[in-house]
Amino acid sequence: MRSALVCGAGGFIGGHLVRRLKADGYWVRGVDLKSHEFAPCEADDFLLGDLRDPYFCRHTVDRRFDEVYQLAADMGGAGFIFVGENDADIMHNSGTINLNILDVCCKRFVPRIFYSSSACIYPAYNQTDPNAPNCEEDSAYPAAPDSEYGWEKLFSERLYLAYARCRGIEVRIARYHNIFGPEGTWTGGREKAPAALCRKIAETANGGSIEIWGDGCQTRSFLYVSECIEGTLRLMRSRFVGPVNIGSDEMVSIDALADMILAVAGKQLRKQHVPGPQGVRGRNSDNRLIERALGWRPSQPLSVGLGETYRWIERQVFAGKAAPRAPAVRAA
Ligand code: NAD
Repeated sequence: MRSALVCGAGGFIGGHLVRRLKADGYWVRGVDLKSHEFAPCEADDFLLGDLRDPYFCRHTVDRRFDEVYQLAADMGGAGFIFVGENDADIMHNSGTINLNILDVCCKRFVPRIFYSSSACIYPAYNQTDPNAPNCEEDSAYPAAPDSEYGWEKLFSERLYLAYARCRGIEVRIARYHNIFGPEGTWTGGREKAPAALCRKIAETANGGSIEIWGDGCQTRSFLYVSECIEGTLRLMRSRFVGPVNIGSDEMVSIDALADMILAVAGKQLRKQHVPGPQGVRGRNSDNRLIERALGWRPSQPLSVGLGETYRWIERQVFAGKAAPRAPAVRAA
């Protein structure tokens, strides 16, 4: 039986990854600062602890796992990574996790490790036109990410590549583009745009209004979590190192995203544009490299995943209160 370690197993993507690895027949150890908030952990073994602590990392990687997936990070949506006050924590915490876990994996002769980088590494200067952003993998340099979160991801990509060159560990690096789906953070300040919009729409009764940060014309693409996991495992099981985009290339404006969720919800609400953190003006996944390297690219339409996600978030909202608030909600 193959063994895998999933760092960040108490989080959104890590939780889905553990479930898939178990379905694929792996023995899985999960590790995280916290237990999963929304689903029972399906790992054979789950360690609760802080991967910033090198002693805890040694305890976590106490054997030669066949595969390690490093997804643990101090992260969140625009309301967390673009506001400035979390920058030192983001860089210190995520950087320390990567330094620790990669080093201990080398010392235990782990043959292969996956690292989840981000579309946030791409230069801001290539993402000023909402209709024509450039996120081709080779465009990462000269580097100019729009956030410290992106700079830490870029540093860590280089760290993993340096360990591959100098210490012989095989690495696989994906740049995720806005992953969404059920069982992810949907409230509390770290939620990302699809979850935040689903929550606002679920909380608001027909005839009310929802707030949207910015003018709603900024563009993004969003990838459903099951396709993210599929791409991650295909990359991990391939000979291709990356970094490679794992994202959807169905680019939409934030207003269009809200309209799609409204259609799923069967609601008519006004969109109220308010100032707020937004990040770059346009971003889309360029999927030419993943198609060339893996013979595969994500293909599920955005509307399908939004349906699943909205219904899950609506259940969370209803579980927390008897009925939707009416008519307007001031949300984070
Ligand atoms: P998440 O926040 O749900 O999961 C990250 C997990 O890491 C959390 O459960 C958190 O508790 C854990 N963690 C943080 N600090 C830790 C520490 N010191 N010790 C142990 N565990 C710690 O995020 P996610 O959406 O599942 O993202 C997983 C990975 O993918 C992250 O590295 C993230 O940067 C990357 N990524 C995600 C997206 C996305 O859209 N979700 C996009 C690009 C990149």
